[in-house]
Parts: sequence; C-alpha cells; structure tokens
Amino acid sequence: MAVAIIIIVVIWSAVILRIQAERQETRDAAVAASAQLASAFAQHISKTVHDADAVVSWVKYEYERSPSTFDLGKYQRQGLISADTALQVTLIGAYGEVMQTTTSNAKPVNLSDRPHFLIHQANADAGLYISQPVVGRVSKQSTLQFTRRLNHPDGSFAGVVVVSEDPAYLTDGFYNRDALGGNGMIAVLSDNGYLLSRRVGDESGSPEGPPASAYSKFARIQRETLADPVDNVHRIVTYRHLAQEHVAVVVGLSERDVFAAYRHAKALYFLMAGLISAMLLVAAGAVAVVIRKLRYVAETDSLTGLPNRHLLTIALRRRMSAIGATGRLAMIYIDLDNFKKINDSLGHKAGDDLLKKVASRLAEVPGKNRLLARMGGDEFVILVEHVDAAATARDVAEATIRTFDRVFGIHGNSYLIRVSIGIAVYTDHKSTEFDLLTEADLAMYSAKAEGKPANVSRCCFYTPVLAERARREAERLQELQYAIINREFFVEYQPVVSLDTGDMIGVEALVRWHHPEKGVILPGEFLPVAEASGLIVQIGEFVLEQACQDFRAWQEEDPRPLTLSVNVSAVQLATGDLVHAVKRCLNDYMIEPDRLQLEVTETAILDRSAIVSTRLNELRDAGVKIVLDDFGRGYSSLSHLLDLAIDGVKIDREFTRRVPDDRSAAAMLASLIGLTRELGLSLVVEGVELHRQVDWLRQFGNLAVQGFYFYESLPAADLPIGKVA
Ligand code: C2E
Ligand code: CA
Ligand code: CA
Repeated sequence: MAVAIIIIVVIWSAVILRIQAERQETRDAAVAASAQLASAFAQHISKTVHDADAVVSWVKYEYERSPSTFDLGKYQRQGLISADTALQVTLIGAYGEVMQTTTSNAKPVNLSDRPHFLIHQANADAGLYISQPVVGRVSKQSTLQFTRRLNHPDGSFAGVVVVSEDPAYLTDGFYNRDALGGNGMIAVLSDNGYLLSRRVGDESGSPEGPPASAYSKFARIQRETLADPVDNVHRIVTYRHLAQEHVAVVVGLSERDVFAAYRHAKALYFLMAGLISAMLLVAAGAVAVVIRKLRYVAETDSLTGLPNRHLLTIALRRRMSAIGATGRLAMIYIDLDNFKKINDSLGHKAGDDLLKKVASRLAEVPGKNRLLARMGGDEFVILVEHVDAAATARDVAEATIRTFDRVFGIHGNSYLIRVSIGIAVYTDHKSTEFDLLTEADLAMYSAKAEGKPANVSRCCFYTPVLAERARREAERLQELQYAIINREFFVEYQPVVSLDTGDMIGVEALVRWHHPEKGVILPGEFLPVAEASGLIVQIGEFVLEQACQDFRAWQEEDPRPLTLSVNVSAVQLATGDLVHAVKRCLNDYMIEPDRLQLEVTETAILDRSAIVSTRLNELRDAGVKIVLDDFGRGYSSLSHLLDLAIDGVKIDREFTRRVPDDRSAAAMLASLIGLTRELGLSLVVEGVELHRQVDWLRQFGNLAVQGFYFYESLPAADLPIGKVA
C-alpha cells in the first residue's frame, strides 16, 4: 500500500509540474503572439491614419489654393471623394459655420464649439488632429474626425477641414478571428485621451467605452494579465504608442481563449492521473488483501485457528526485546500425555477433534496479556506477560490443569486427558527465544517424568539443574553410541534352576557394558537412555545374536533341553524388526524355536497398539515362547494372565523378597502358582536369595527358580555346562 501511495504522489507531482510548465509555455506563447499582433496592428493603424490624413491634406491643399472656386460637390461627382475614403467631408468656416459638406440636405449648424475647431483656431501648428468620437450633428452617426486647419494666404485662420470616418474603419479591417480568437480585443487610443475604436470578437469596432485614460495602465504592464475596463475580461495585453500619429494601439488576447487548449490538456492529465491512481489503489488493495491472507495462513495453525509456532517465535522475540522484559515474561509449555495412544487407537480424525477441543479449553483459561499458540502435534504454549511473570505463570498453569479435570467427549466416549506443563521465565536478557523454548520444553519433560507413573498432570519450573541433567543425558547418549560402535557390550547368563534337583534348566541373557573407564555397568543404569533414544534396538539385536551363538555352542556340549531367555524391550517391539532378527538367529544357529523365550514386560504388552500385538502373534506363530516378565511389580493384574497371549510368567523379585514373612504376599504367590499351573503357563520365581525362601517354595513341588541363592549372572565360560552330576 505504501508503495502505491508513493507512486501516486510521484505521478501527481509529475503531472502538476508538467501542467505548470505547460501553463507557463502557453502564457509565454500568448505574450509573444500578442506582441507580434500589436506590431502588425500598429502598422495597420499607421497606414490607416495616413490614408485618412491624405484625404484631409488634399482637401486642405485644394481649398487653400482657390477658396472661391473650391467645390466639394464637384469632387464628389468626379468620384474623388467617396464613401470608400470617407463617410463625410465638411469644410467649416472661420466662425464655425458649415461652408460645404458631402452630406446632402444638411441643416445649417454651427460647429465653433467643437474641440477640433477650438484647437485649430488657437493653434496654427496643430497638424492632424483626431478628435473625440462624436455623434455627428451633420451625419447623425458616431464618427471619428480627422481634422486640419485651413489658412488664408496670409496664414490667418480660415476654418477647419473635417474628414469623418466610421470608427470601425480603424479596427474592422484588421480584426482576424484566427489570430485574435473569439474574445481577443484590439483598440486604438488617441493621445488626447479618447478611445477611438475598440473591437472584440464579432461585434463591429466601436468607440464606446471609458476614456483612453482607463487603458493607460496597459502602457505600464508587461507579461501580465489585466481585467479589461470595458468588459472585465482578463487579457494578456500589449500596448504600443505611435508617436507620429498621436495614437496608441492595444492588443489583448483573452485568457480564456489562450488557455483553452491548456485547460483541455490539464483536464486530460488530471483524468489520466486520477484513473492511474484509482487503478493503483485498487491493485494495492487487492495485493494487500492477498498479503493479509497469506500472512494469516503463514501465522495460523490450520487445525485449531490458533497462532502457530512461527507467529509465537516472532511475538516472543518482539516481547523479549522490549526494555525491562526480564522477569515479566514467562512461557508455559503444555504437552498432552498419551496423545499418541489416542491418535493411534481412535484414528487421526478423533485425534484432530481432541486437539480442537483442547485448543478451545485452553482458550477458556482466564488471564490477561497472554498469547496462546499451538506449537504442533499435541504441544501448546501460553505466553504470559506480567510484573511477576513466575507467579502468574504458576496460576495459569494450575488453572490449566484444573480445566483438564473435566473429561473430553470423543465419539460418544469420555476421555480424561492429563497434561505436563513446563514453565520458563525470561530472566537472563542474553537468552534468545529459542533458549526460552528449550528451557520450557526441558521443564515440561521433567513434569512428564514426575506425573507419568501416577498418571497425573504436573507442572514444573525450569531450573539450571534440568539443563545440567539434559546435558548429562546427551553425554550418556553419546557414550552409548560409541559403545555400540566399539563393541563394549557383552552378555552374561543367569541360570534358571529346578528347585527339586538344583539343576540348571535354562539361562537368562543379561546385557552388560564394559565401560573403558568406569568398568562394568549394569543395565539399570544405561537402559533408560538406550530405550528413550531407540539405541536399545541395536543393543537388543546384539544380545539376541550373541546369546543364540553361545546357546548353539552349549547344545553341542550339553544334551539337556535348556531354555534360553532373552529380554525384549517395548521399544524393540514397537519399532525395529524383531521378528525377522529372531527368525534369522533361530535359523543361523539351528535352535528349536520353543527353546527360546522372549521376556516382555507388562507395560510393553499392554501397549495394545496394532503393531505390537501383530509382532507378538508372529513370534508365537514361529513357535517362540512369550513370557511376562516382572509380574507383581507395579500394577500387575491377575486378569492379564487370562487375557494376554503369553506362554509363561516370571514372578518379580520384589514379590519374592516379601515371602514368606509377608503373609498376604505368601498367600498371593501360592494362589499365583496354582493359577499358572491350571492355565498351563510356565512359571519362574525370580530373586530367590534366602534359604527360608527356598524352604517355603519347596511346598509347591517342582518349581523353576532364579536367584542369587543359586547363581548370579556368569560369563558364558563359567556356566555349569556339560558338568552334569
Ligand atoms: P530382569 O529381566 O528382571 O532380570 C533380572 C535381574 O535381576 C538382573 O539384573 C539380575 O542380575 C537380577 N537378579 C537375579 N537374581 C537376583 C536376586 O536373587 N536378587 C537380586 N536383588 N537381583 C537378582 P540386571 O542384569 O541388572 O538386569 C536388570 C534388568 O535389565 C533386567 O531385569 C531386564 O529387565 C533388563 N535387561 C537386562 N538385560 C537386558 C537385555 O539384554 N535386553 C533388555 N531389553 N533388557 C535387559
Ligand atoms: Ca528378565
Ligand atoms: Ca524380571
């Protein structure tokens, strides 16, 4: 829009300059034309006056040569005096009496009061005198009178010769409509103060008007426009004095005529500029609309209509750069717990629905000066601005958690959604918008870790400790990657023993990490990072391969039908190609499938996503046994033993630890043993450490047990292979 306005200003400036230049050019041309016409008119008048004077002088000469025989009538009859040369010729005697005249039937009048008579009577050297236009007493017409004095031979006053002319005689012969235009003016003034003739346009020339003195102002001007004293029309005027003829001529070009073309051009210029401006404004308006639309699309999340990540980052940067923003700005990072599960189990349409509902729920959270945005996925951000941003952010976060106490209705069902909230306050003016986002994100992960086990919503503030923890995790991840490349992992085996005979009936493969500096590291320390990063897939494949290879070797030496248990993490089931790896190993090392047991935790199986159950089914179809590990830890439910597609159970060592002193644990273990036997599930009691436990367990007959009472985990070479009693 600004560009369009600049262009419009430029166009109008150019048009106005052009118009001004054209006006000046037109005026200059008109001034020149008027001067040129004035010269021509002056020549014309000079000649016309001489022509009139020739008649006057000739009559004077003829009369003075022979006053007694002079006869105007004779000359008239001979055609020497005619209407062409003069309207009327009159001879006035020394006393003012009309002696002879060319007008027939003229009444005898006395003209001794006429100015020409008085002037010639008083002055022998007056020469040609052009008198004031008068209505002739003889001719009864408005006439100009060209007069000269008549002398007696001795030089004394004998009268006056008067040649009358039509005033139009001076101007009509010159007036040229093309040159002067419809409203051009020409005038002749006499030195003695009379307007002799004036013509404008198509009217015939006339002497009517103010005295010549009214025109005297024209004598002083140059290149100016003046209002004509007769018709008030503004004209560009040139004034010329003819000294010899005792007259002055005036030529005036009407401004209206002169500027007609200019006015036309000006109207055209204005029209064009106006049209172009209008078009530009319309185009700029259209462009502005398109830009506004594009901007809306670029800055808005299409699903929820909320501002998107892009707009949030811009707003954040702007607010952070404001003076005194530190301590006044906080970011609340909100992440839905288990959104992925809802999305996977109910479908994307339902997931989208839920996100829209969450967006409007978040918009309901009260508070001023906030910006709510969707970062993408199931992550939302509320930006708060307040003098005490930390306290306000806590209030908003708590209000947010409260709004999630209400269920969400999706497809006719109610779902309780939990959220994890991280808060970062802008305290260090050196941090950028990305730092703040990272901090809030870290705090959110910490809240998630706190709230997840109990399935509750949590809110956490960012502290540098979190960053330190994240840094350490990143370091550990790095180390783990090196460990895979450098083959620092190895496998130990813990025998599974028959309670009756004390014989080894199988082994569980347990991974260890030989750290170059820290020595042997147990899985509890590195598995969480390996699982979170997905590196567990590679580690798990290594363990499977190594265990199968060792197992093959034992089978050569030991005829007992041992079983091999390998732990499989939930991540391996959800991602990775476990089924293929298992089949390949069974094939490569020629292992009967039912000798291999995959130990899976309850949480891994309970994640009933389609892919996990398909994989478990494929493995069972291949003949591999699936065993539920760590039963009795956390929220184990007996019903799972009935529902889940499993072949066996391992009782968790936490459970075993309470036996036999804790009577309810003992009772439960007893019924569990009964139940598994009834369901035909295999059973291993883990974590047997004490003689008392062994004694108590013996009441159930032959059981498979595992624990430090019998064996700790051993290197493959130390296993009691082939050493059968
Ligand atoms: P788990 O599957 O329950 O494995 C048994 C764990 O209990 C082993 O610890 C073993 O050393 C320990 N243990 C055995 N008998 C006793 C006992 O009498 N008393 C006590 N207090 N502990 C006993 P470890 O090797 O540290 O492994 C810990 C966990 O790491 C395992 O628990 C298993 O969930 C996981 N894990 C180990 N190796 C692998 C692996 O290769 N892949 C996967 N995905 N997970 C593994
Ligand atoms: Ca296990
Ligand atoms: Ca276990």
